Amino acid sequence: MGKPDTYIIDLKRILTGPVEFGYHLDDAFFTAVEAGEILGGQVDAKVRVEPHGGHHVLSFSMQGVVRLTCDRCLDEMDCPVDVQRALRTKFGPEFSDEGDDLVIVSETEGTIDIGWYLYEFIALGLPMQHRHEDGGCNEAMMRALEAHRVDDAGEEDEAD
Ligand SMILES: [Zn+2]
Repeated sequence: MGKPDTYIIDLKRILTGPVEFGYHLDDAFFTAVEAGEILGGQVDAKVRVEPHGGHHVLSFSMQGVVRLTCDRCLDEMDCPVDVQRALRTKFGPEFSDEGDDLVIVSETEGTIDIGWYLYEFIALGLPMQHRHEDGGCNEAMMRALEAHRVDDAGEEDEAD
């Protein structure tokens, strides 16, 4: 596990820029988020911080691969990651995530922990359904699942 302050960026010190930060996100990073759907992975992340007077623009660029559970056979599968996102920050009385990719950063602290955003942007960039390519599913798992399936169609009516 990395140090707890690994993903903390001191915005107050970034007065001229841009400044670029690089991270390698591995299994330890992904498994630190409990109840997350990402089982592990290897992702290279770059975060470019550009000061604009009183606020900053953080541009995230992430490429790599994460491991997910296949919706069809429940075995693990690799899913490519290629995410570009931006976050705007402004200084204010206290930290607050305003949504819409705007974050208020405490003026007294002046720092932002981007660990959560790295994770969230990767998670948001994943496809809604994760499935092995046709023929790539774990056959043994599929057979076991078939055997257990007791007609549970319904719920979602997938229109074709
Ligand atoms: Zn599968």
